[in-house]
Amino acid sequence: MRNVVIIGSGPAGLTAAVYSARANLSPLMIEGREPGGQLTLTTLVENYPGFADGIMGPQLMEDMRKQAQRFGTEIIHGFVHKVDLKQSPFKVYYGDHVVETKTVIISTGSSAKLIGIESELRLMGHGVSTCATCDGFFFRGKKIAVVGGGDSAMEEATFLTKFATEVNLLHRSEAFRASKIMFDRAKSNPKIKMHMNTVVDEVVGSPATGVTGLKLRDVKNNNVSVLGVDGIFIAIGHNPNTEIFKGQIDLDERGYIKTQANSTRTNIPGVFACGDVQDPVFRQAVTAAGTGCMSALEAERWLEH
Ligand code: NAP
Repeated sequence: MRNVVIIGSGPAGLTAAVYSARANLSPLMIEGREPGGQLTLTTLVENYPGFADGIMGPQLMEDMRKQAQRFGTEIIHGFVHKVDLKQSPFKVYYGDHVVETKTVIISTGSSAKLIGIESELRLMGHGVSTCATCDGFFFRGKKIAVVGGGDSAMEEATFLTKFATEVNLLHRSEAFRASKIMFDRAKSNPKIKMHMNTVVDEVVGSPATGVTGLKLRDVKNNNVSVLGVDGIFIAIGHNPNTEIFKGQIDLDERGYIKTQANSTRTNIPGVFACGDVQDPVFRQAVTAAGTGCMSALEAERWLEH
């Protein structure tokens, strides 16, 4: 029987681990398929307070992990495929194991959204990517496309100009959701060509050839065209990782876990949620860490009472 099981190992989960371990709760963390979470897929993080010159994302997560372990967090490499939150003690299933626990802290984060066409899945990893910082290097001297109109798309397009000779930004709407500063930065970059009202109907290529082009459609007049590119980066937002909680815990219409105001409490007493899995708005490492801290303090208080 555990006091606290933390599901997920990004900044939210690891901060919850630091706090609950320092409170002598001997937390168990089940780290998930992407240990360290989304920050391990980034390069330089410049907006995490305390690092005047920035810090590399994977390094930051490695340091948080060591900090959590220093105070006694047990970290298991495993993926939680099922939970039973209907009665206490709760049950958390990973691999062939099941663990019983008095409280659960959910910090499973979110994952990149896809456009929803068959060819993007078939060519994923063969020229289709959801992570510019992971795969940008492979497109040195090549022509590529980025899909999306928010800050992620602007950031990825701008970053990819370091490698690619031309970056085509494909946006399905007329207006951009991106913040002005990030839009202006992308707009003024001579390597970025913006295509509005444009959707990708098909990614052309095969796993053997890689991506060779895109079939595009102008949504205003339905004109179709082909754009020759060697790669496509999809930057259209994220979905919360809440599949295993469906039907057991209250989710909002987009699938994010609902938490109570000024709290990380879910509708189930003893179950807390922190980080991107409950935050469709801010989605920053520092806000995730902040809510991770809140979850640990709330779990501790709940156990005391
Ligand atoms: P977002 O703001 O939700 O934007 C998603 C974009 O993708 C929208 O332009 C949307 O088009 C488009 N889109 C959605 N589904 C699509 C589909 N199936 N096919 C084609 N296009 C599709 O997501 P985000 O850019 O990932 O940003 C999320 C949050 O993180 C924001 O709050 C953002 O400010 C923040 N963020 C901040 C930074 C930074 O400050 N460094 C960097 C990245 C993200 P429509 O506009 O037509 O709906």
